[in-house]
Amino acid sequence: MPLASLGSLPRKLVRYVIVGRPVDDASGESCAICTFDLKDEGMYDDDGDTGRTWSSLIDCGHTFHGKCLEELTAKFSDHIRCPYCKMIYGEIVGTQPKNGNMKTWTDNNIALPGFPAGTKTIVVQYSFKNGVQGPEHPNPGT
Ligand SMILES: [Zn+2]
Ligand SMILES: [Zn+2]
Repeated sequence: MPLASLGSLPRKLVRYVIVGRPVDDASGESCAICTFDLKDEGMYDDDGDTGRTWSSLIDCGHTFHGKCLEELTAKFSDHIRCPYCKMIYGEIVGTQPKNGNMKTWTDNNIALPGFPAGTKTIVVQYSFKNGVQGPEHPNPGT
Protein backbone atom coordinates (compact mmCIF):
# COMPACT_ATOMS: atom_id res chain seq x y z
CA MET A 1 0.00 0.00 0.00
CA PRO A 2 1.63 3.24 -1.09
CA LEU A 3 2.14 5.95 1.48
CA ALA A 4 2.56 8.71 -1.01
CA SER A 5 2.46 11.47 1.57
CA LEU A 6 5.32 10.19 3.69
CA GLY A 7 8.10 11.07 1.30
CA SER A 8 6.91 14.59 0.64
CA LEU A 9 6.62 15.71 4.25
CA PRO A 10 9.51 17.89 5.33
CA ARG A 11 11.82 15.71 7.42
CA LYS A 12 11.52 17.82 10.54
CA LEU A 13 7.75 17.46 10.49
CA VAL A 14 7.43 13.73 9.88
CA ARG A 15 7.46 12.89 13.57
CA TYR A 16 4.43 15.07 14.30
CA VAL A 17 2.17 13.37 11.84
CA ILE A 18 0.51 9.98 11.66
CA VAL A 19 0.47 9.38 7.95
CA GLY A 20 -1.65 6.93 6.06
CA ARG A 21 -4.52 6.21 8.40
CA PRO A 22 -7.13 4.16 6.57
CA VAL A 23 -10.25 6.01 5.56
CA ASP A 24 -13.27 5.28 7.76
CA ASP A 25 -16.37 5.70 5.64
CA ALA A 26 -18.53 5.96 8.76
CA SER A 27 -16.82 9.15 9.87
CA GLY A 28 -18.99 12.24 9.90
CA GLU A 29 -16.06 14.56 10.45
CA SER A 30 -14.84 17.06 7.96
CA CYS A 31 -11.33 18.07 7.07
CA ALA A 32 -10.29 21.30 8.79
CA ILE A 33 -8.15 22.27 5.83
CA CYS A 34 -10.52 21.96 2.87
CA THR A 35 -13.77 21.55 4.87
CA PHE A 36 -14.91 18.61 2.70
CA ASP A 37 -16.11 15.49 4.51
CA LEU A 38 -13.24 13.22 5.47
CA LYS A 39 -14.99 10.23 3.97
CA ASP A 40 -15.13 12.02 0.62
CA GLU A 41 -12.23 13.12 -1.50
CA GLY A 42 -10.45 16.21 -0.34
CA MET A 43 -9.94 19.35 -2.35
CA TYR A 44 -6.46 18.26 -3.36
CA ASP A 45 -7.24 14.61 -4.11
CA ASP A 46 -7.11 13.98 -7.81
CA ASP A 47 -6.65 10.27 -8.20
CA GLY A 48 -9.97 8.73 -7.25
CA ASP A 49 -10.06 6.28 -4.39
CA THR A 50 -6.67 4.73 -4.94
CA GLY A 51 -4.20 5.55 -2.23
CA ARG A 52 -6.54 7.94 -0.45
CA THR A 53 -5.63 8.15 3.22
CA TRP A 54 -5.97 10.44 6.19
CA SER A 55 -3.27 12.05 8.23
CA SER A 56 -3.51 12.98 11.89
CA LEU A 57 -1.46 15.26 14.07
CA ILE A 58 -0.02 13.29 16.98
CA ASP A 59 -0.95 15.45 19.96
CA CYS A 60 -4.31 17.00 19.16
CA GLY A 61 -5.42 14.08 16.99
CA HIS A 62 -7.08 16.26 14.38
CA THR A 63 -7.43 14.46 11.11
CA PHE A 64 -7.18 15.69 7.55
CA HIS A 65 -7.07 14.34 4.06
CA GLY A 66 -3.54 13.13 3.42
CA LYS A 67 -3.15 15.47 0.48
CA CYS A 68 -4.49 18.43 2.39
CA LEU A 69 -1.91 18.02 5.13
CA GLU A 70 0.75 17.67 2.47
CA GLU A 71 -0.32 20.99 0.99
CA LEU A 72 -0.18 22.56 4.44
CA THR A 73 3.29 21.25 5.24
CA ALA A 74 4.61 22.15 1.80
CA LYS A 75 4.43 25.81 2.79
CA PHE A 76 6.43 25.40 6.00
CA SER A 77 9.56 23.36 6.49
CA ASP A 78 9.94 23.82 10.23
CA HIS A 79 6.51 23.84 11.78
CA ILE A 80 2.85 22.98 11.34
CA ARG A 81 0.02 24.84 13.00
CA CYS A 82 -3.11 22.73 13.26
CA PRO A 83 -5.74 24.71 11.34
CA TYR A 84 -8.40 23.39 13.69
CA CYS A 85 -7.05 24.01 17.20
CA LYS A 86 -3.98 26.12 16.31
CA MET A 87 -1.62 23.81 18.17
CA ILE A 88 1.92 24.29 16.94
CA TYR A 89 4.19 21.37 16.06
CA GLY A 90 7.85 21.92 15.41
CA GLU A 91 9.80 25.08 15.80
CA ILE A 92 8.95 28.51 14.52
CA VAL A 93 12.06 30.39 13.59
CA GLY A 94 11.60 34.02 14.45
CA THR A 95 13.42 37.10 13.30
CA GLN A 96 15.30 38.03 16.45
CA PRO A 97 18.81 39.28 15.86
CA LYS A 98 21.32 36.44 16.14
CA ASN A 99 23.85 38.35 18.20
CA GLY A 100 21.65 39.12 21.20
CA ASN A 101 22.06 38.18 24.83
CA MET A 102 19.50 37.52 27.51
CA LYS A 103 20.37 37.84 31.19
CA THR A 104 18.07 37.12 34.09
CA TRP A 105 18.57 37.68 37.77
CA THR A 106 16.60 38.24 40.93
CA ASP A 107 16.65 41.73 42.40
CA ASN A 108 15.59 42.27 46.03
CA ASN A 109 15.47 46.03 45.71
CA ILE A 110 12.91 46.45 42.95
CA ALA A 111 9.27 46.16 43.95
CA LEU A 112 6.54 45.87 41.36
CA PRO A 113 3.12 47.44 42.00
CA GLY A 114 0.71 44.95 43.51
CA PHE A 115 3.33 42.88 45.32
CA PRO A 116 4.08 43.18 49.04
CA ALA A 117 7.29 44.99 50.01
CA GLY A 118 10.26 42.67 50.07
CA THR A 119 9.03 40.50 47.20
CA LYS A 120 11.91 39.62 44.94
CA THR A 121 11.65 40.70 41.33
CA ILE A 122 12.95 38.71 38.40
CA VAL A 123 14.71 40.99 35.96
CA VAL A 124 15.11 39.98 32.34
CA GLN A 125 17.50 42.08 30.29
CA TYR A 126 18.04 41.77 26.58
CA SER A 127 21.00 43.34 24.93
CA PHE A 128 21.57 43.56 21.21
CA LYS A 129 24.55 44.91 19.36
CA ASN A 130 24.05 47.22 16.42
CA GLY A 131 23.92 45.28 13.19
CA VAL A 132 22.59 44.91 9.70
CA GLN A 133 19.21 43.35 8.94
CA GLY A 134 19.30 39.96 7.29
CA PRO A 135 17.03 38.54 4.57
CA GLU A 136 14.47 37.45 7.22
CA HIS A 137 13.96 41.06 8.37
CA PRO A 138 11.71 43.79 6.95
CA ASN A 139 14.52 46.01 5.61
CA PRO A 140 17.49 43.78 4.68
CA GLY A 141 20.83 45.52 4.46
CA THR A 142 19.98 48.53 6.56
ZN1 LIG B 1 -9.14 18.04 3.11
ZN1 LIG C 1 -5.60 20.15 16.20
